[in-house]
Amino acid sequence: MLVLLKPGTPEAAASDVMTRLRMAGLAVHRTDHDGRIRVAAVGDTGAVDWTEVATWPGVESTHKLPRPFKLASRAFRPHDTIVQVGRCGIGGRQLAIMAGPCSVEGEAQAFAIAEAVARSGATVLRGGAYKPRTSPYAFQGLGEEGLKILRRAADAHGLAVVSEVMDTQQVPLLARYADILQIGARNMQNYSLLREVGHASRPVMIKRGLSSTIEEWLLSAEHVMAQGNQQVILCERGIRTFETYTRNTLDLNAVPVVKELSHLPVLVDPSHGTGIRDKVAPMARAAIAAGADGLIIEVHNDPEHALSDGPQSLWPGQFDELVGQIRTIAEVLGRSV
Ligand code: PEP
Ligand code: MN
Repeated sequence: MLVLLKPGTPEAAASDVMTRLRMAGLAVHRTDHDGRIRVAAVGDTGAVDWTEVATWPGVESTHKLPRPFKLASRAFRPHDTIVQVGRCGIGGRQLAIMAGPCSVEGEAQAFAIAEAVARSGATVLRGGAYKPRTSPYAFQGLGEEGLKILRRAADAHGLAVVSEVMDTQQVPLLARYADILQIGARNMQNYSLLREVGHASRPVMIKRGLSSTIEEWLLSAEHVMAQGNQQVILCERGIRTFETYTRNTLDLNAVPVVKELSHLPVLVDPSHGTGIRDKVAPMARAAIAAGADGLIIEVHNDPEHALSDGPQSLWPGQFDELVGQIRTIAEVLGRSV
């Protein structure tokens, strides 16, 4: 339920309302919008008499939040959430450009790519150290050593770090080295992992599951937010369809749909979305035109020999050209890179 307080309600009265809702067994979250306090009360809301709540001091009205996701909904928080990471406010006017290799493979590789993507305008370095590989015989990532390399390469070029956390036990380790904890598509519905990152003091980027609906994806964000971590970024990375000429089907419909339903920033990953190097740039351009808040793109200095996802990785020169085009599109939309 959404409890709207009257404009100018004193803090003490607002705090009384929240305490009474908690005493009714509900979890309470607050946001301030247009000079008015908005309270989301979640849990067993059926056990509460909401017409009575509407008569409490300071309360203007109560409303049912119409969707199953509550904290992630724009109905609760009308203004866009901006997730501050290093010098980039993700979800704000400036687009977030995240780039780097699929996997961290070594010092020389990570430093060369970090240098190139930073020069082109990226603000976040991506790179997997724990890789969710379909085959158990494929390269599984360098683990903590990979995280150390990624951190050093990012720091050397003024970049923030995003890296995937694959299970609950890895959360403290990832939080030590990465600025953003990435939940991979395969783990989007790993609810223990979502709960765990919900307690972490790092922003969380949730990639859309391979066969997940937009509602399921937003409910995954809700799992993180319900634990108290409101710093959530969504990432559309393609879904599985009957189409076989691309690795996945990049669902750009999801961008404007999610922007309406939710206040959370939405990024697009055209690398996993297409799986094909020369399809990455057109879909990246389309994603920004569709209203995405940024991109996450795989870039490799030697894609022919990459240990994972070489065929979809851009050469640094291609990435540089793409960022130039994104800059032009951003300007038309009143945004910047
Ligand atoms: C990745 O970003 O390297 C990755 C494994 O992505 P996804 O979880 O979207 O497949
Ligand atoms: Mn990859």
